[in-house]
Amino acid sequence: MKIAVLSGKGGAGKTLVAVNLAAVAQTAVYADCDVEEPNGHLYFQPHWRETVSVDIRLPQIHAERCIGCRQCVEFCRFHALAMSGSQVLLFPELCHACGGCQLVCPNGAIDEQSHRIGRVRSGDVGNLQIITGLLDVGERSGIPIIHRVLQELPATGTAIIDCPPGSACTVMASIQQADYCLLVAEPTTFGRDNLRMVHELVRVFQKPAGLVLNKVVAAWNPCQEYALQTGLPILGRIAYDRYLAAQQAQGVVVAWKSRKYGDLFSELLQVVRKECGHETGAGGQW
Ligand code: SF4
Ligand code: SF4
Repeated sequence: MKIAVLSGKGGAGKTLVAVNLAAVAQTAVYADCDVEEPNGHLYFQPHWRETVSVDIRLPQIHAERCIGCRQCVEFCRFHALAMSGSQVLLFPELCHACGGCQLVCPNGAIDEQSHRIGRVRSGDVGNLQIITGLLDVGERSGIPIIHRVLQELPATGTAIIDCPPGSACTVMASIQQADYCLLVAEPTTFGRDNLRMVHELVRVFQKPAGLVLNKVVAAWNPCQEYALQTGLPILGRIAYDRYLAAQQAQGVVVAWKSRKYGDLFSELLQVVRKECGHETGAGGQW
């Protein structure tokens, strides 16, 4: 079972929930798809076993075969190609590596070259497998890295997917394989607006979803109000707690350190499994 953990914005508690759900699952995979700033591994400090490079194929223009027909330039919807006099110029940061320009070139003047955009690291800590994608600095899209991370997920067992924040195409790529989407939100109007966006996204993908309310205080909670209005099930609440914030800041897996939080995240995992029709005790395998 693959559980994607999302939040409409950074800082809402997505990684807190993803890391600690994986921690209490005991035998599981934690997959960090937040490839622009993956930080789940900082909590687990895994023993890294493997690092693979993730490459894309960029066009390579062979000027000696180019007849200046402009077909590639006119084909490229991303404006990654331009003519300068009789020369075709490529702007790699705009290229989506679709390969279309190579197909339309009538004179075989375009082929491809490999270009690294990042890497995927795999390791373990106890019975937890940690898979982390990392986009290289300056690269535009982490989607191929997210696909590579998801390729590594086993067909069975529990996988917790730590998605990028927001509701952009990297989030869409991260939830494609998910059996369940767990949304995490903080009790602000900004948090509610971002929750709405990410909730609409998971509805477009027709994924079952539930909500964890984080940083809960004894006051009006706009995210709770939103959930009640839309029928989004509230699966758990995490109270605002300076102790929890301090543990997070120190890179501690709080479910392993604190009985209270171990119980809280174990109960949350059980509730999610029940929502998916996979009810077993915490740490069970299915
Ligand atoms: S590979 Fe696709 S996106 Fe890149 S330059 Fe060619 S047509 Fe444009
Ligand atoms: S399609 Fe091929 S031949 Fe035509 S301008 Fe582009 S590279 Fe040159």
